[in-house]
Amino acid sequence: MFEDSRIGGLLSATTKILFGKRMIIAKSQKDMEKMRAVGELIAEVRETLRAMVVPGVSTLELNTAAEKMMRDAGSIPTFIGYKPRGMSPFPFAICASPNAEVVHGFSKDVPLVDGDIISLDMACTLNGFVGDTAITLAVGEVSDEIKQLIRVTEECLALGIAQCRPNNRIGDISAAIQGHAEKFGYGIVRDYTGHGIGRSMHEAPQIANYGRAGTKERIRAGYCFAIEPMLNIGTHETKTLDDGWTVVTKDEKLSAHCEHTIAVTVDGPEILTLTKEQKKALNGEVAAKIAA
Ligand code: MG
Repeated sequence: MFEDSRIGGLLSATTKILFGKRMIIAKSQKDMEKMRAVGELIAEVRETLRAMVVPGVSTLELNTAAEKMMRDAGSIPTFIGYKPRGMSPFPFAICASPNAEVVHGFSKDVPLVDGDIISLDMACTLNGFVGDTAITLAVGEVSDEIKQLIRVTEECLALGIAQCRPNNRIGDISAAIQGHAEKFGYGIVRDYTGHGIGRSMHEAPQIANYGRAGTKERIRAGYCFAIEPMLNIGTHETKTLDDGWTVVTKDEKLSAHCEHTIAVTVDGPEILTLTKEQKKALNGEVAAKIAA
């Protein structure tokens, strides 16, 4: 299928290389400890950026802060130099995608203004493992329409994560996200999807944000996924700008994106991209909390 030939951030040619074998890599307990460590680190970066987003801040300032934090902690910004075949290397530590930009936006020395929305996607590699997370934030005061878009995107993420249990299937994640997004009439981006994650940022399986329950690969304990719904107020269709990276909605209406890296445990999903403080607040009830 056409939609199946693409994955988050990558063009179809690269996808074929990454997903040709369709082998999902289960993590050992030792690997999982490293996934937890990098997940916590990238979550700290995300929360630092969240606190910085106010009218007047530029995405370049956010990028600089994120890169410094990643490097100071001994990790490598995974996005810098990331180069799918046929594309130029990605030049920034974060993807900063305001308003109608969906993903892969370039950081700019231009202040965000009151009423904007900004999607921030970031990943770093620590001890050979990758953590990947994204948020969409309101800049100052935004309309109710925007608030709802962000809220529903977050709810879709939570519903998708809740399906990450042993013996479920990848299609269950997709269907949970699609079902909720469609209640609100949002366009669900098809050209970019969630993915397996581990030593590489993009591993099998591909995790579309639309699909049928009970289909695709069976989920097993030890798998790690990046779940990342992208919802548009208008059409699901996207186009890429001349810089070769920035993806915008075709109708230039607003778009939101959020993402967590999660691990599948025998007891259900464990969100890896939470800060120590966020984990404490959940009191070990990660799965129960998001399933509610
Ligand atoms: Mg991702």
